[in-house]
Amino acid sequence: MSKVVKAIRGMHDLLPQQIHYWQRLEQVLRQVFSAYSYQEIRLPLVEKTELFKRTIGDATDIVEKEMYSFADRNGDSLALRPEGTAGCVRAGIEGGLLYNDFCRLWYAGPMFRHERPQKGRYRQFHQTGVEAFGMSGPDIDAELIIMSARLWRLLGLPHLELQINSLGNASSRRRYRDQLVDYFSAHRDALDADSQRRLQSNPLRILDSKNPAMQPLIEAAPKLSDSLDDESRAHFEQLLELLDAAAVDYVINPRLVRGLDYYGKTVFEWVTDQLGAQGTICAGGRYDSLVEQLGGRPTPAVGFAMGLERIVALMEEVGDLSPARPHIYLVVEQGSEKSALLLAESLRNELPDLKVHCHCGGGSFKSQFKKAHKSGALVALVLGEQELAQETVTLKYLREERAQETVAQQDLSDYLLKQSNIYI
Ligand code: ATP
Ligand code: MG
Repeated sequence: MSKVVKAIRGMHDLLPQQIHYWQRLEQVLRQVFSAYSYQEIRLPLVEKTELFKRTIGDATDIVEKEMYSFADRNGDSLALRPEGTAGCVRAGIEGGLLYNDFCRLWYAGPMFRHERPQKGRYRQFHQTGVEAFGMSGPDIDAELIIMSARLWRLLGLPHLELQINSLGNASSRRRYRDQLVDYFSAHRDALDADSQRRLQSNPLRILDSKNPAMQPLIEAAPKLSDSLDDESRAHFEQLLELLDAAAVDYVINPRLVRGLDYYGKTVFEWVTDQLGAQGTICAGGRYDSLVEQLGGRPTPAVGFAMGLERIVALMEEVGDLSPARPHIYLVVEQGSEKSALLLAESLRNELPDLKVHCHCGGGSFKSQFKKAHKSGALVALVLGEQELAQETVTLKYLREERAQETVAQQDLSDYLLKQSNIYI
């Protein structure tokens, strides 16, 4: 028998038993992007190698050692895209999208990096990203972060930490780079091989080292926040104020530098401790000079990209939030069965996409609530004796710290429609 041909290492099939997580994730992403008025753009998988060299940076891991580049039949150097921002900016300039107006875009699809395959790190993986062009203030940075926080809420992903930092402008980064080179040169013997190499090519990246032996030296390194320019400092402070106002928690991580050269001012990552070493599920920041660097008019920009394999892994980890879950679990007191069935029917008539699980088969409130929790629903509706008499229904939030509410049955579908986090 001839030998079986296998898939390429680090490039995986997404099999049917997993696919419903992907479909649900993609559905939530689409819905949220559209709610924030972002438009989809679809980009080629292959670009000129030069595009990535000029944007991501020669001395980054991606360009130095991870890119799938090759000569095509004409001898041109092409590359499978390792990320989406460079192509998006190229397309924005080429398609004239960035000239007259503000522009909010999103993209999705496979990316390719020749990394050592391990859990959460593959050679073909999927990113969805958003890019906002033309806006220089911290309000759009805040919007992006608030939007990502909404995504995690809707996907039911708990305990994510937002780490945030400011890289300052180009000259404050240069000043800081010099300080770092002085500092690490004075401790050259303590640097591992990677960091020795980076000392010349990209000293900021030493801060990003995952080598535990390097951590004490990195901890004691000068901090970028001490050499920030005034404008970047003000931008950062305003951004933090907006996040405070929107009740988005964050941790300032002065060593967060990101692996791509085009970032300045804001950088951030969403991190989980539930996926082992590959804990960053979303990363982004501001890149105000990139459009000009690629030949467009100066255009401020900010964006982020999510690693979908890692998000799906987290969705699986959280477990009870199966994509098959209902939106609503109707808890029914004995004697209210007929009204419950009719209420569920009228909800389905008015909101055809709403998934309603109407409890049948009796049982105590306690046992019904147990089932409601287990179902993964975000909301339980309670139809008891009192509600029946008053033609109301009681809403209990199962996954949020939120007071229960009483709503008139005739207003219920309107009410649910307005609760974007239930009705998705
Ligand atoms: P890391 O430090 O994990 O290598 P990165 O800084 O190279 O990440 P980005 O280029 O910012 O990652 O990509 C954004 C997101 O895409 C990451 O936070 C991660 O979730 C995901 N990602 C990046 N590389 C891979 C990969 N090889 N396999 C799976 N997901 C990835
Ligand atoms: Mg990487």
